[in-house]
Amino acid sequence: MLLVILLSIIIFTRYLLVALGYQWIIQRWWQARVTRITDTARISQIKKEIGWSFVSSIVFALLSALCYQAYLLGYTKVYMSVSEHPLWYFIVSPFLFLITYETYYYWLHRVMHIPFVFKKVHKVHHASIHPTVFTSFSFHPWEALLQFLFFPMFLFLVPFHFTMLLIVLVTLTLSAVINHSGAEIFKTKALTNHLIGATHHDLHHKEFTNNFGLYLTWWDKWMKTESKTQAKHTD
Ligand SMILES: [Zn+2]
Ligand SMILES: [Zn+2]
Repeated sequence: MLLVILLSIIIFTRYLLVALGYQWIIQRWWQARVTRITDTARISQIKKEIGWSFVSSIVFALLSALCYQAYLLGYTKVYMSVSEHPLWYFIVSPFLFLITYETYYYWLHRVMHIPFVFKKVHKVHHASIHPTVFTSFSFHPWEALLQFLFFPMFLFLVPFHFTMLLIVLVTLTLSAVINHSGAEIFKTKALTNHLIGATHHDLHHKEFTNNFGLYLTWWDKWMKTESKTQAKHTD
């Protein structure tokens, strides 16, 4: 119980610090905002997003504590010493995780847009038509659970070094905040052809019917679910 409370505080504080820090960076260094929203609407939306993110933090903390117990009991394939597996595997493993997770998320996201699933699972996240950095963790508990489920599935089956787990978590946190910030930082076609930025994900929040990817555009291109507006940017 103490671990769940501690993890909830860490996860929620990390969310607030990353969101506020990134917001400060884009306002200070990038002026090219793609989101337009009035200040009053913005404040009431942000309050709701922070509330749901607090709930998500508790869900992720509870599930992380369960995974930690599974690790202590020897059920996971998480390893601590780099020498336990070849060095090339150590280097390749985070890419393996990120590509597999992108695939899991893309298809989960498609399922979450089936109308009766959408109402129960994904509607909370889509309440933000104009995403902000605070939307990045604003999920209904069911959605938080479904997103998290990939972690035990992967860590129970695939050897993964603890450091790489931290790197992957940082990557996921940063990509979520970048995609919801409303400020495009990927300026070249070489990047936007492959990486999902704020323009791509803003279009998902506005149009609902396309741009389902998380940080890679690949599945949207393969399944022809990329927004026509986005395609114009990347062709
Ligand atoms: Zn969606
Ligand atoms: Zn979103």
